Amino acid sequence: MDCIFCKIANGEIPATKVYEDDTVIAFNDLEPQAPTHILVIPKMHITSAADITEENSAVIAHIFEVIAKIAKEQNMDDGFRVVNNCGDSAGQTVKHVHFHLMSGRSFTWPAG
Ligand code: AMP
Ligand code: ZN
Repeated sequence: MDCIFCKIANGEIPATKVYEDDTVIAFNDLEPQAPTHILVIPKMHITSAADITEENSAVIAHIFEVIAKIAKEQNMDDGFRVVNNCGDSAGQTVKHVHFHLMSGRSFTWPAG
């Protein structure tokens, strides 16, 4: 499968990793939208948030533990935003589920 995030997860494509364990990897976004902009992904291929099921949701729960850990390590005490774009109308460009962890500026709401 020609999936860029699977390739990052298996080391075929380089990325600036900020966290890695057996099931999850986090790396800096190539086009940061905030002073800190990290993508947190499962190593296993899940296409989008619409494909989360009872069988694969444990890794998604783990992603949120990893997000809290990174936020502590990187002193995101003022807050952070976690974003998931699911599907074309939400602007999902990479079809491997990922969570944007952004910090270092203020964020407006509702998101555009
Ligand atoms: P989304 O639009 O929600 O699917 O987000 C995809 C994100 O992946 C965008 O913010 C891109 O800048 C980022 N991105 C795409 N390719 C890479 C890459 N090779 N390394 C790091 N980030 C990437
Ligand atoms: Zn993939």
